[in-house]
Amino acid sequence: MDSTPTQTPREKLEAWLRYYDELNLGAFYTDRRTMGKRVIKRTAIKPAAVSAEVQPAVAVPVAASSQKAAVPFSVLPVANAPSMFEVLDRIEGDTLERIREDLGECTRCRLHKTRHNIVYGAGNARAELVFVGEGPGNEEDLQGLPFVGRSGKLLTQMIEAMGLSRDQVYICNVVKCRPPENRKPEEDESATCSPYLYRQLDVIAPKAIVCLGLTAAQSLLKTKDPISRFRGEWFDYRNTKLMATYHPAYLLRNPPAKADVWKDLQKVMAHLGLKAKKASH
Ligand code: URA
Repeated sequence: MDSTPTQTPREKLEAWLRYYDELNLGAFYTDRRTMGKRVIKRTAIKPAAVSAEVQPAVAVPVAASSQKAAVPFSVLPVANAPSMFEVLDRIEGDTLERIREDLGECTRCRLHKTRHNIVYGAGNARAELVFVGEGPGNEEDLQGLPFVGRSGKLLTQMIEAMGLSRDQVYICNVVKCRPPENRKPEEDESATCSPYLYRQLDVIAPKAIVCLGLTAAQSLLKTKDPISRFRGEWFDYRNTKLMATYHPAYLLRNPPAKADVWKDLQKVMAHLGLKAKKASH
């Protein structure tokens, strides 16, 4: 969301309220006496054998988790997931199409000024596995599709090494417009765009989410720790198992780190009951 310097505080507040309204969260800031009329209702989480045990009551700092051995899902560190959505829960009847419509020809942050295409996400809407990257690069911006450049080719190889194809998984990013010069998204850009990512994840309700790189991990785990400290560990993100690993772009610069990523992906495969087709390194 761009805030214009000439806007009065009231106009800024109105703009924020309109924004939350577009996200179907309109009543959040208004008179609490009307809260009972909200359309957002608690929806059952997709049943999964393990999810019933999850106790997300207390958020555990990411750095506190150092278990290397397999841990039961019931004691996984809990992501400090976005508080607004923890409170508001899932949007009843939400769909990927509706989220895309809500996004529209987005101008909510400065990234819209230089983008060619919004890169919404691609793949299977019922995927058991979702990969979340940082933001589109040049090729993605031109094609409107995630991970279709050099990093994307490597991601495709990783997915295939897991015994899957790209159309069996879902791939998306924290920001949906390319940051100029492929810089990291600014905090306000991520904060403006990530509610759409959270909704996409809620709708898909996969069995596992893999964050590719620190930006995705920061958005979903709310951590500032270096990724090397927690990559390969399982977290509980809103009752879904989430793991962060290195970004494919980092692997292109540091090929030896592929071995670490492959170890991480093997844990994901074990969780999904997948067998490797071939080694990735
Ligand atoms: N890097 C990302 O993080 N996402 C893409 O879609 C492409 C490259």
